Amino acid sequence: MSAVMTTAPGAGLRGPLSALRIATLASPGIVVPTRSSNQSGGRVRVGTVTAELQSCAALSRWDNSELRRLWKRRAFVTRSSVGVVDALAMEDHQDVEAGHGVGKLMVEVRAAYKSGRTRTPAWRVEQLNGIVRMLGECEGEILEALFADLGKPAHEAYVAEISLVRSSCKLAIKELKKWMTPVKVSGSVTSFPSSAAVVSEPLGVTLVISAWNFPFLLSVDPMIGAISAGCAMVLKPSEVAPATSALLAKLVPLYLDSSMIRVVEGGVEETTALLEQKWDKIFYTGSAKVGRIVMAAAAKHLTPVTLELGGKCPAYFDRSADLKVGLRRIAQGKWGNNNGQACISPDYILVDESIASELVDALKDIIEKFYGKDPKMSKDLARVVNASHYSRLTNLLDDPRVSSKIVHGGERDESNLYIAPTLVYDVPLETPLMLEEIFGPILPIMKVKNEQEAIDIINERAKPLAAYVFTSKKEVKELMVASISSGGMVVNDTVLHFVNPGLPFGGVGESGMGSYHGKFSFDAFSHKKAVLYRNSLGDVPARYPPFTKKKQSFLRCVLDGNYVGAILSLVGLKK
Ligand code: NAD
Repeated sequence: MSAVMTTAPGAGLRGPLSALRIATLASPGIVVPTRSSNQSGGRVRVGTVTAELQSCAALSRWDNSELRRLWKRRAFVTRSSVGVVDALAMEDHQDVEAGHGVGKLMVEVRAAYKSGRTRTPAWRVEQLNGIVRMLGECEGEILEALFADLGKPAHEAYVAEISLVRSSCKLAIKELKKWMTPVKVSGSVTSFPSSAAVVSEPLGVTLVISAWNFPFLLSVDPMIGAISAGCAMVLKPSEVAPATSALLAKLVPLYLDSSMIRVVEGGVEETTALLEQKWDKIFYTGSAKVGRIVMAAAAKHLTPVTLELGGKCPAYFDRSADLKVGLRRIAQGKWGNNNGQACISPDYILVDESIASELVDALKDIIEKFYGKDPKMSKDLARVVNASHYSRLTNLLDDPRVSSKIVHGGERDESNLYIAPTLVYDVPLETPLMLEEIFGPILPIMKVKNEQEAIDIINERAKPLAAYVFTSKKEVKELMVASISSGGMVVNDTVLHFVNPGLPFGGVGESGMGSYHGKFSFDAFSHKKAVLYRNSLGDVPARYPPFTKKKQSFLRCVLDGNYVGAILSLVGLKK
């Protein structure tokens, strides 16, 4: 965007709008509504409001705190007020970078949360509708940002990021009343007469830290949970997807209540500063290594966490599997999902040795069918996110124990952050490729003697986020479901459990703790408060001392469920 056009600061201007008047207009698309009526239609046009606006503001009586106050009151409500919001978001960001803004931000968000507004269904629905509006009005910008960060094809980005967020949001709007309604539970004899209910209350002020691979979805989907549950939240998107992070920082204040839903951009330093604060809930998506840092920080304040982590997701094919359909689904789950940079992409295949070479040949054909003879030219393949992940992946491939086993692909182009869909066959289990999460377009295939060997290989490793089983045998399905501990499991497909809002999405052990999606997102940000309602009736004397033999006999009978004995005790017929 173009810079602010500078007239002489303050020239001929008075009053609180002088800063904006000075910042007259370079970018015709950007319009800031003002209270002045002697400007064009009560509006002042500004260019990108940057440090120049801030210095102008310093010269005028309209200082940044005034702008900030208006911003918080959502006086700037249109997308076109982006310039001012940019400037304020930048100021927040500079504060956070300087390490002294986070405390202030917390005080502000906490104070706003205390107003109790988030507890009302109206506030929650308004915010959720704001997200739906943002998706509709900003689809192009979101797709552009995802392309800039990950070379993510527009169709893939629409399906995996925008449409998933929209359906999450719509489900939350539709179900919110039901989710918020206290769940009645039956009373017990010991508390008779009474009624009881589980009441969901918002956990409070929450921190959401998201990852780079689905940088929009993984930021906004937890936000839907936090809003539905009635929480305030600060979102820290991933700095590894900078275009999406900047876009979220720009859009969130325009569509949502920025007194209680804030975005802080940044990397390790800013996240560390955020983690030092006392939150009521931290929701983290990313690696297990950083998950440990997050959990240690949370432990200091006894803050509950959800950790959405990753790991090596296995896929097993037995000899009864439908190879053609199964492998198409593997290919879609792997290369059609951010080119393998997805937490639930198949990480490696274990295949019954009797069909191993048939499987390799069939998968080569499918890759060629989906992405052409030269997949680099395909418009349907995302790129590796950055140079450091590119070199991490090429190092995995360049291990001589791996490079000698490449049976398909292997081509690369550093300038384009491109690595072809690559199959490696029968690599040693102790290579880094088979020990670390691959998170990229390389797919190892290993042969096994039977399902038990597959189970043993999977269970020797950390518990995966997802496991996939391809078989037509009922007993194999049952054996795999019973024997493999993983966050989720799909039989005869990949990834699709992620899109069923009736299923909790989350890991176990090294792949994470807690879950979300659908009602589980609401629950992730709620405290389930146990409420027992009593009145003054039924005040049984046996409850109070002195505990005579008769009272003791009565109480024991009640506690043991011996109600006949209890009645006999009461009338003195039981000692
Ligand atoms: P990342 O580098 O984007 O980091 C995630 C977040 O942690 C970022 O916001 C980052 O700023 C922050 N962070 C990084 N280092 C930090 C530090 N030292 N201290 C504090 N904060 C820090 O993402 P990543 O970690 O590379 O993500 C990839 C991993 O995430 C993979 O293991 C993948 O499987 C997993 N993942 C899981 C899910 C899921 O839903 N379970 C989704 C996507 C990715």
